[in-house]
Amino acid sequence: MGVQAWLGSLDQQATASADAVAEVAEARRVLGVAAAEVGARLAGTVPAALPLSVTKGRAGAMTTCEGQAVARWRSVTTDDWAVLRGRALDAFVAHTVFGGPVADPVADAASVWEAQGNLADAETMRALPPDGERAADLAELAAAAGRLRIDPSWVPRVEVRVGTTFGAGADAGAGAGALRLAGRIDLLLGGPGTGRPAVAVEVKSGHSHSSHLAEAYHYALLCALRHGAPPAGIAVWYPDGTLVPLRVEGAVLTSAHRAADVAVALAELWEGRPPRLRSGPHCGWCPAAAGCPAAADLAGAAEAGGDGGGGAFGDGYDDDKWEPL
Ligand code: SF4
Repeated sequence: MGVQAWLGSLDQQATASADAVAEVAEARRVLGVAAAEVGARLAGTVPAALPLSVTKGRAGAMTTCEGQAVARWRSVTTDDWAVLRGRALDAFVAHTVFGGPVADPVADAASVWEAQGNLADAETMRALPPDGERAADLAELAAAAGRLRIDPSWVPRVEVRVGTTFGAGADAGAGAGALRLAGRIDLLLGGPGTGRPAVAVEVKSGHSHSSHLAEAYHYALLCALRHGAPPAGIAVWYPDGTLVPLRVEGAVLTSAHRAADVAVALAELWEGRPPRLRSGPHCGWCPAAAGCPAAADLAGAAEAGGDGGGGAFGDGYDDDKWEPL
């Protein structure tokens, strides 16, 4: 299904049901409880860690492997092509939505980033050899973004920052402002004031992966907290044109439980608990792989012919919680 056809199917949806609104209220309650626990753990011992921020990336990293999450916070990666090309696709989508088709992938991505104040990525991009393999890769991504046609009446917005702080209020005690859920929605359509239902799209530059579904559900939670009702639709879009719409019912509450679990786990790490290691294919791009005992075990098991562990899908995610339509 193309994006426009999917949007058409959502446009007829009625306003949120009472059950959907109640689900958002329960999600708030779950996150309030987590904020109180985070505050109780850290307010007196590590106040500088507050508010704990649970972003889409942080939640994903913590769910994949806490060891990798910690290693990534400590590492300063300046040449991560996978990350840069992902950001480039976001920039191409922004350019396509607001300025029309991308004519020069390198120059246009750099211009978008400069407009956004992201000067480091802009400089990295402008330094790319113009005829190299990476430039050709970018040209393909730019062409893909150009095929993402969206009716302007949906009022498309890109990289929309949303966030909600929990534990606010006079009765929050030690949990006051202890937890912040935040994120930047790649593509947000419709919503209050537009005459269309709210729809969130996660734009991914790589191949489909179960973690992308969890990331899209984080968007659903952020949207729901912002608007007081779940979005009408959430989906993951890939440059090959694949659109993966996701089931919205129950997603907000499931995502809230996941964020709450991540918040408490983060607080435990701040308190000094060693990170739990979950080895799997993701060890291949982990900054801590060289000295990690779990990665060594994984390599040993692979040499012996085993699968070396990992989650149910070999990648450390509880995929059964996330369900495409
Ligand atoms: S190498 Fe693997 S198990 Fe070790 S910290 Fe990294 S992702 Fe986790």
